[in-house]
Amino acid sequence: MKNIVLFGPPGAGKGTQAAFLKERYQLIHISTGDVFRFNIKNNTTLGILAKSYMDKGDLVPDKVTIDMLKAEVDKNLNTNGIIFDGFPRTNSQATALDAFLASKGTQINAMIALEVPENLLVERLLKRGLTSGRPDDQDEEKIRNRFNEYQNKTAVLVDYYTAQNKYYGVNGVGSIQEITDRLCAVFDTL
Ligand code: ADP
Repeated sequence: MKNIVLFGPPGAGKGTQAAFLKERYQLIHISTGDVFRFNIKNNTTLGILAKSYMDKGDLVPDKVTIDMLKAEVDKNLNTNGIIFDGFPRTNSQATALDAFLASKGTQINAMIALEVPENLLVERLLKRGLTSGRPDDQDEEKIRNRFNEYQNKTAVLVDYYTAQNKYYGVNGVGSIQEITDRLCAVFDTL
């Protein structure tokens, strides 16, 4: 399996790009945000819990998120690889993921990060909020809180994967196609 962490701040374009990569390389795409939103829509216990954090732009607690992620991976081990989108977002999620994948005889091959300046991100998220129906996209204060969470808890993961020689930064500004091409150029070297 070739497994990648598709990384970047909120609004960087991870979901959009994951859809192209999934198609091109026949990968499984696991988006923790999408799994949470699916649970919210279906009013599950997990969804009700996650919603209280997500609506404010806070991260959902690690234990809940890690257990959910493991269950998703377990359903999808028979594949060319997995794109992790929105996970890991904290150091303990990253160590839990490494240990879990190792126990399944596989690993993360790369973290590929979409690099986009913050002013452009806010613009993209507010625009997405007009149509996405996501409460966390509709209010600049919630968006700023998501960036804070990203800076405080998630950005350190760049160091985590750099230390393993697995970090690849990609310019996330350009047309969707240009960015897909940049990501594929990295993926093809793995
Ligand atoms: P974005 O990257 O645009 O913020 P996501 O759909 O990836 O959107 O995530 C939306 C929200 O879901 C996050 O703000 C957070 O509350 C929750 N979430 C998603 N993934 C995680 C995670 N790995 N750990 C904790 N919370 C998460």
